[in-house]
Amino acid sequence: MSSDSIFDKILRKEIPAQVVYEDDWVLAFRDIAPQAPVHVLVIPKRKLAGFAELPTEETHAVGEYFQRVARVAKELGLENDGYRIVLNHGPHAQQSVPYIHAHIIGGRQLNWTPA
Ligand code: AMP
Repeated sequence: MSSDSIFDKILRKEIPAQVVYEDDWVLAFRDIAPQAPVHVLVIPKRKLAGFAELPTEETHAVGEYFQRVARVAKELGLENDGYRIVLNHGPHAQQSVPYIHAHIIGGRQLNWTPA
């Protein structure tokens, strides 16, 4: 498991964040450097360093996590127009925080491709 990250500190409320949703499974907060009108990060409360650590023995927890990502997007009002979910993993993807997080990006027409 990786060392303490900025998202661990946000989860422990040691540093402030603009929280938009929280329950027993996840914390969702606005990205500090938004790339679109809506840019929110969703982290599971049970820490995983990255996408590759999704535990096969905990498919239920993984399902709960992704269900919350969809719920947060809906509560942000993005359901009808759509949105992008981004999961960066490792250096080539420029993952900068070693705590799994889904970016929810929307609020305008997005461009493609991301590469
Ligand atoms: P990634 O590049 O996928 O690891 O994304 C990390 C994201 O975390 C970036 O979009 C950053 O802007 C965002 N970020 C870093 N520090 C904070 C913070 N203190 N509060 C909110 N978002 C942050």
